[in-house]
Amino acid sequence: APLLEATGLSKAYGPTAALSGADFALRAGEVVAVMGPSGSGKSTLLHCLAGIVRPDAGTLAYDGRDITALSDTARSALRRTDFGFVFQFGQLVPELSCVENVALPLRLNGEKRKAAEARALEWLARLEVDDTAAKRPGEISGGQGQRVAVARALVSSPRVIFADEPTGALDSLNGERVMRLLTDASRDTGAAVVLVTHEARVAAWSDREVVVRDGSVRSSEWAA
Ligand code: ADP
Ligand code: ADP
Repeated sequence: APLLEATGLSKAYGPTAALSGADFALRAGEVVAVMGPSGSGKSTLLHCLAGIVRPDAGTLAYDGRDITALSDTARSALRRTDFGFVFQFGQLVPELSCVENVALPLRLNGEKRKAAEARALEWLARLEVDDTAAKRPGEISGGQGQRVAVARALVSSPRVIFADEPTGALDSLNGERVMRLLTDASRDTGAAVVLVTHEARVAAWSDREVVVRDGSVRSSEWAA
């Protein structure tokens, strides 16, 4: 059975149908690229899968459990324990140092500062940005910031990483680096990745591609 499965997801913003009956399934450990034109519903699909946006209709199952009707509290608890997030602009907290940013998901899960920051530092080192530990996001480059954001997504050992245009703000060299780090981390930790991108070069890092058009998923062949 898939780790995460969505059936018939629909979501409208006022008169705009962002998703209309989208189906999606994710197996444990696989890297899936969600492609499609701008405005086709890719981000909305990712936000619904990740429990950030509540769909108007459809069902969601995670790890054998129906999570369609979970309360907001239960959904945010699931996000904290099982999911990691990387967005186009790293969205690091500007007032915190980089090591504090990476430690944040662990702190929110109740870990003590010392242990959380030690693990955060290990991930910064693994992504070769441990020299940013004491700096604030405003004092580092965009490429470094995105690596720090990847470290923050991975530090809590998530089973699913949701990445929305994670390379969108980077030049091609840094974009390739971030994709290598994400896919290596997926292989090493067994985390599945849902990767929203409109770039074929970025999608080429995935195991499988699906295409979203007009709010529904048009192709979802499993990779050989
Ligand atoms: P994509 O990620 O493929 O660019 P989105 O999921 O962001 O597509 O958007 C799908 C459609 O829904 C677009 O028409 C977009 O303008 C609209 N939309 C997305 N989010 C919102 C929102 N928060 N409020 C209003 N309209 C939205
Ligand atoms: P992406 O390319 O990842 O879809 P967008 O620039 O379309 O990024 O959207 C960025 C954010 O703005 C998302 O959270 C999306 O839900 C929201 N958004 C997109 N379109 C609209 C809209 N028409 N009105 C309000 N919010 C929107």
